[in-house]
Amino acid sequence: MTVYRGRFAPSPTGPLHAGSLTAALASWLDARAHQGQWLVRIEDVDVPRCVPGADTLILKQLADCGLHSDAPVVWQSHRDAHYALALSQLLAQSWVYGCQCSRKAIESQWLAQGVLRERHQAWIYPGTCRHLHLTTESHGGGLAWRFRVEPGSVAWQDRWLGPQQQDVAAEVGDFVLKRADGLWAYQLAVVVDDGLQGITDVVRGQDLADNTPRQMLLQRALGLPLPRYAHLPLVCNAQGEKLSKQQGAQALDTQDPLKCLNAAALHLGLAPQNGTVSDALLAWTRLIHSSHAKLKT
Ligand code: GLU
Repeated sequence: MTVYRGRFAPSPTGPLHAGSLTAALASWLDARAHQGQWLVRIEDVDVPRCVPGADTLILKQLADCGLHSDAPVVWQSHRDAHYALALSQLLAQSWVYGCQCSRKAIESQWLAQGVLRERHQAWIYPGTCRHLHLTTESHGGGLAWRFRVEPGSVAWQDRWLGPQQQDVAAEVGDFVLKRADGLWAYQLAVVVDDGLQGITDVVRGQDLADNTPRQMLLQRALGLPLPRYAHLPLVCNAQGEKLSKQQGAQALDTQDPLKCLNAAALHLGLAPQNGTVSDALLAWTRLIHSSHAKLKT
C-alpha cells in the first residue's frame, strides 16, 4: 500500500471562506481516497498578518465540517528551532547568503536600468549581495538570508495541472528564507514542516503553484523527499477574482456545515449530498476513490 500523508496549512489571517474550505475539503478527500492521513498545520510565521483568534476559529470551522486532523495540530510559531537548524545547514553548505537590500533598494536598481514591473509582480532579486559575504558580525544584524538559485528549469508533474516548469533564477531570483526583521519566510517554514511531517502529497490552490519550484529547490538542498503536488482551480467571486481575505471574502458560516461542504464539493465537480456531514464525506471519498477522478491520478 502506498503511504499517503496530506495536509491543510491555513494562515490564520482570518476565518475560512468558501475558497479555503474547498482547498481543505480537496486535500481531506484526496487523503481519505488514498486511505492516508490528513494533518492540519497553522502557518502563523508572518506574525503581523495573523489575526488573534483566527486559528481557533479555523479549527472550529473545520471541526463543524467533520474535518479533523489525524495528528495534533502544529503551529509554525512554535517551531523556530527547526527552521533555525535548516537555515544553519543551508548556510554551512553555502546555499544561503546575507542580504542587506531593502525592497526599495531592489526597486531602485531595476528602475535605474529602465525595467518596469508588471502589476502585482514581485521584483526579481538582481543578486546584489550574492558575492559580498555579509555576516551578522560584519554587518551588525538586520540582514535577510537568501537562497542562492542556480540557473536552469525546475520541472514537476502536477497531478491537476499536468507538466509544469519554471526557471526560478530568471523568474524569481535568489529568494528570502529569513527576513531582516527576523521572521521566517513561508518558503522555508513550509518545506521544513512538509519534510518533518512526512507529507507525501500537497493539494492546494493554484495561486500557490508558482511557489512549488522554490520549494523543490529547498527540498533538494536540504536532502528532503519531494512530495507530489496537485494545484486546484481557485474559487472566484462574480468579478472573476480569487476569493481571499484581502478581497474581503465572507467568513464561512458553519451553522449549516452540509451547505458549506456541498458548495465546496461543487467547485471540485462533486454532486451535492443529503444526509449527515459524515455520510456526505464518505460518499465523496468513495466517488473519488472509484471514479479515477482527476484528483486521484
Ligand atoms: N499557508 C498558506 C496559505 O494559507 C498555504 C500554504 C500551502 O498550502 O503550502 O496561503
